[in-house]
Amino acid sequence: MLSLNKIFDRFGKKKPRIRGRGLSDALEATVIPRSEHTISRKQISSAALKTLYGLKEAGYDAYLVGGCVRDLLLGHEPKDFDVATNASPEEVHKVFRRSQLIGRRFKLVHVRFGREIIEVATFRAPPQTEQHVDDAGRIMRDNVYGTLEQDAWRRDFTINALYYNINDFSIVDFTGGIADLKAGKIKLIGDVETRYREDPVRMLRAIRFVGKLGLLLDDDTERLIPTLAHLLADIPAARLFDESLKLYLSGNAAVTHELLCHYHLFEQLFPQTDKVLHSEVDNYPRTLLIKALENTDKRIDEGKPITPAFLFAAILWEPVRQRWQEHIARNIPVIPALQRAATDVIMEQVTRVAVPKRFTIMTRDIWTLQPRLEQRFGKRAPRLLTHPKFRAGYDFLLLRAESGEPLTELADWWTQFQIATEDEQNTMVKNLAPVSNKRKPRRRKRKKPTAKSE
Ligand code: ATP
Ligand code: MG
Repeated sequence: MLSLNKIFDRFGKKKPRIRGRGLSDALEATVIPRSEHTISRKQISSAALKTLYGLKEAGYDAYLVGGCVRDLLLGHEPKDFDVATNASPEEVHKVFRRSQLIGRRFKLVHVRFGREIIEVATFRAPPQTEQHVDDAGRIMRDNVYGTLEQDAWRRDFTINALYYNINDFSIVDFTGGIADLKAGKIKLIGDVETRYREDPVRMLRAIRFVGKLGLLLDDDTERLIPTLAHLLADIPAARLFDESLKLYLSGNAAVTHELLCHYHLFEQLFPQTDKVLHSEVDNYPRTLLIKALENTDKRIDEGKPITPAFLFAAILWEPVRQRWQEHIARNIPVIPALQRAATDVIMEQVTRVAVPKRFTIMTRDIWTLQPRLEQRFGKRAPRLLTHPKFRAGYDFLLLRAESGEPLTELADWWTQFQIATEDEQNTMVKNLAPVSNKRKPRRRKRKKPTAKSE
């Protein structure tokens, strides 16, 4: 497992950049006026502005809150814009014709402008002890409306509890978020253990923000993570799937993954992989996974599409590969052995992280293409080229070859085959080493035992 220093040496630690004239003077202030920060309306999406102004004109308070304010202050482009208001969800719904009330436990309003959706939440109060948390301290109900200040204190990290007020364009800070942003610190609001017990997913969120923003965890926020990581066992697998996608598909997967391992969170999400990942003697599993994650990050950076199926194929490959070999050792033929291994591993995995079928189907295809890519005789190679998941299977073969499996020749062959003309392809197949080119002799069918012979 890598130390934090090694992780940051390898992936580079981004220096927090808070742009803002006079911010240092405003550290003690709760309200930072427009003249003392750099968030300008030009950086805010027109959908978010329309939502803010719509609420304001209807007589309500309206603020941008959360990740968008944090990201704008750090000079990043926000992923989305969230709005907080003192209007009730029903009142928000009345203000915007194209809006929808969603959620039962946690009522929200989605306001739609073309393809963009702005999420509007009513200020909430922190959980009022007994009625709102279960025996383990987890929040069960979170629907008590509150004031702006209460809303700030029930948020997770101080840097996520900053509000941009559309009324005077100031930033409101109750929890010391600006000071923490300046210091490059991610700090949980309130008593750390209580807040992690209320919602253990906050541990994953903390790590995600370290990976994404390059800030460091505050000492207390950091210290308890390995001890409380086991609390994730009680989180529904569907929610952990959503969080896994955010962790691994937001462009910083490689560093985030190392951090998850470092803080013993990865073993909660992918226990089967964790068991085989940190082998001292065999670097292959780690090399393959990190390479896959670095490729994913690069593709996201270049704006290329990515599929979660490939990501899960890489994360779960080593446990599948090991089980596959075990099944082969028990004389199960190669492809059925792999299919069985895939089923074993996926069935166990989805109890922790509920990867939906639409992804696991493709993940399986990627795996089962691996032995099929070795069988190139006859018409098999051109037929495989038309397989709908050929490209993903081929990319996975390249990944395995680059990670140290002796597959470079096979991978190069397929690279050539894809750009070859039909004649060249025929020659390539003919030139294959005779042993792999020969059709295996059919096994003679055993005669069914007759009643007599029994
Ligand atoms: P991202 O850039 O990933 O969107 P974000 O901080 O905006 O980061 P969201 O999941 O969009 O994350 O949540 C919006 C805001 O809601 C957060 O900034 C935080 O204030 C609050 N929040 C989200 N999840 C929690 C949680 N588990 N506990 C308390 N507050 C939360
Ligand atoms: Mg957000």
